[in-house]
Amino acid sequence: MDELVALCKRRGFIFQSSDIYGGLQGVYDFGPLGVELKNNIKSSWWDAMVYSNDDIEGLDSSILTNPLVLKYSGHEDTFSDPMVDCKSCNMRFRVDQVPESCKKEDLTEPRQFNLMFKTNVGPIQDGKSFAYLRPETAQQIFTNFKNVLDSTSKSLPFGIAQIGKAFRNEITPRNFIFRVREFEQMELEYFVYPGNDEESHNSWVQKRLDWWQDQGVPMESIEIYDVPKEELAHYSKKTIDIMYKFPHGVEELEGIANRTDFDLGSHSKKQNELNIQSSVSENKDSNSKLAVQNADGEWVVPYVIEPSAGVERGFLAILNEAYTIEELADNKTRTVLKLKPHLSPVKAAIIPLKKNDENIVGKAKKIKKNLQDLGLGRIMFENTGNIGKSYRRHDEIGTPICVTIDFETLENETVTVRDRDSMDQSRIDIAKLPEYLLNVIKS
Ligand code: ATP
Repeated sequence: MDELVALCKRRGFIFQSSDIYGGLQGVYDFGPLGVELKNNIKSSWWDAMVYSNDDIEGLDSSILTNPLVLKYSGHEDTFSDPMVDCKSCNMRFRVDQVPESCKKEDLTEPRQFNLMFKTNVGPIQDGKSFAYLRPETAQQIFTNFKNVLDSTSKSLPFGIAQIGKAFRNEITPRNFIFRVREFEQMELEYFVYPGNDEESHNSWVQKRLDWWQDQGVPMESIEIYDVPKEELAHYSKKTIDIMYKFPHGVEELEGIANRTDFDLGSHSKKQNELNIQSSVSENKDSNSKLAVQNADGEWVVPYVIEPSAGVERGFLAILNEAYTIEELADNKTRTVLKLKPHLSPVKAAIIPLKKNDENIVGKAKKIKKNLQDLGLGRIMFENTGNIGKSYRRHDEIGTPICVTIDFETLENETVTVRDRDSMDQSRIDIAKLPEYLLNVIKS
């Protein structure tokens, strides 16, 4: 973990937030390369969820959330962790995360601690006009259920996907970006008829495992945790956690829950007409019936399957898998990030052999622009004049290919392409570069 943290800072992936003022605990900023990797992870998810499935639509709902949403979802009452204080070290811990160094007799009785952040809304600070910062993106998917259904003419089964920030006042943020107070989630709510839920749940678990493998997280690094009944969240009939072998231990990367009809049932008006299966509180505030009519014209509240993954945890797992130290000849080593090319922050580095040679530099800039215009991601013009140093830097940040422009380029329109993983170099026509790069990124 220390090596990953050091690499992230050195190369500009991740910085401590508000660093120049001593930081803010549990909050991080993503630097020039971090923002690219993060965006690439998110767009890979969006592609796999929304663009590849005609029965799934996207959404980008607000972060500020009407307290009623989180009242009826159950978060006001139950979204809390039990915490204890240690009278010896004066620290506060989640009950299941007390370090071994704290003695049992020094700990207070557990108290419930709600994890939601509240913020004042409007000019009056009377404690009544407030909103929550959403603790998950899911709830506003449920409140928009009818809006999406009516505006897209969908019928069951169908899903709504969303990527966005979520906030939790974690008692003990820790392990770098693994447990933080501000993070991003990638969530799908997939609505099905009751009775079809178990099959759909199984199929989403498999699809999500396949997706993680496509991002370079192999099954050998994953454990499947079938959450036992007594540990299930109040809304869940069954939850499968995808656990990853993080540098600090095996912990949750993504949860895939069968949330039954709890959420739509909880947020719906006229609940007694809807044959809701789960146990929901009476809703006196909603103005929408969150149900569909089946083939017999009966109102049914859909069941929902929810794959919910954290972007930061994905980032950490992907980085951990990609991070490689390779032995080279002469007792030398190189650090290389073997990222899947579609996730690499920089897709290709364009390097002129001589940094002050107008013709070579001009040609390199032209090649950079042509490749950049393909829209495949960031192409970096790298005018250091030191090819070896550029190769090392781009190995370390995971750039799949380096393209070198030299005097021969000016004569015969060819360049040298160096492959990150094999370090092989080959000479190819400039005209073939776009196709070459496309093949690398799709591999
Ligand atoms: P944990 O038990 O680790 O606190 P959780 O079960 O509360 O996690 P969920 O509510 O299922 O997590 O959230 C779905 C996903 O959101 C998690 O699988 C994780 O990837 C991510 N996530 C949740 N809390 C955090 C956090 N504090 N920091 C970073 N990612 C988080």
